[in-house]
Amino acid sequence: MIRAVIHSQALRANLQRLREVAPDSRIMAVVKANAYGHGLVPVALALADADAFAVARIEEAVALRAAGVRRPVVLLEGVFTGDQLEEAARLELDLVVHQPDQLQLLADLRSTHRFVVWLKIDTGMNRLGFRVEQFAVALQRLQALSERVREIRVLTHLARADEPADPMNSLQVQRFSALVQGLGLPLSIANSAALLANPQAHADWVRPGLALYGVSPLPGRTAAQLGLVPAMTLETRVISLRQVPAGETVGYGATWRAARDSQVAIIAAGYGDGLPWGLPLGTRLLVGGQALPLVGRVSMDMLAVDVTDSQQSVSVGTPVQLWGPQLPVEQMAASAGTLPYELLCGISQRVPLILG
Ligand SMILES: *Cc1c(COP(=O)(O)O)cnc(C)c1O
Repeated sequence: MIRAVIHSQALRANLQRLREVAPDSRIMAVVKANAYGHGLVPVALALADADAFAVARIEEAVALRAAGVRRPVVLLEGVFTGDQLEEAARLELDLVVHQPDQLQLLADLRSTHRFVVWLKIDTGMNRLGFRVEQFAVALQRLQALSERVREIRVLTHLARADEPADPMNSLQVQRFSALVQGLGLPLSIANSAALLANPQAHADWVRPGLALYGVSPLPGRTAAQLGLVPAMTLETRVISLRQVPAGETVGYGATWRAARDSQVAIIAAGYGDGLPWGLPLGTRLLVGGQALPLVGRVSMDMLAVDVTDSQQSVSVGTPVQLWGPQLPVEQMAASAGTLPYELLCGISQRVPLILG
């Protein structure tokens, strides 16, 4: 009943749009977390023109190679064991190196493969990366490993790219530029938000994730304003309709009480599909194309919508859009007090992904 339709054309259009925004940069398409819930392999195949793909876990890279993806694949967190490094060599993956033990793993590598290595610098995020004062030593150690390293590139990650006016952005970019100035190494700074809002951060490679899926990374700017097209429609159907007399309640906890005689549609979607349990009363869903309010609590397999004010007749089988081109996922995220990232990544395994 519930399904996520993935629009390959939208993915390709978004990639093209991002190329126009950052025409001098190469694009590393971020497809971690099952391509933000859109399906790792189908997304990578749809985005075959990307200059590289980036994933968080080596299992994701294995799946890309198994599917025949020959483009560069970057492990954003690098590897953590010698076995992983041997596997990365076999699969010709590119590595992020962000801490000293990863340099040691490279030094201990048995295979003769020479990696492309992205040296990660922490310019203020304090998550992963060599601190600014450790950079020179890390770079020297990497340069000394030339039998294991074919090319060195440098990246950093911005903590507040979605707040482009915040001075932390220019501070991080300045720290990074000062560090790498004159080295002639390929550089990367920007995620989706920086790509779209901060041309100073474009550098040689941009690393968009969210924007590729047609979702705005910038609060206050819609995807449409940014020229992006939603790549997923999460859709389901009405499975039952009932008349709820004034004064009666709907659902667990009886959190919603009908103020008038109401018609309520029961819809096949719940937290078992990855929707937030805490979605507030009044959150809008598109029932038969019309935005109508959630009533009662989201349960595991169902939720309820008040369709009393619907202009069209609603019946069993009427299509429901939970998010998609007509109802941006950003809206449900705002209503639920979370991020579109979390909603997309949270879609559960039982929801089939359909190429559309
Ligand atoms: C996830 C990630 C990205 C992509 O971020 P978006 O906000 O989805 O564009 C870029 N770079 C790194 C290091 C990441 O971990």
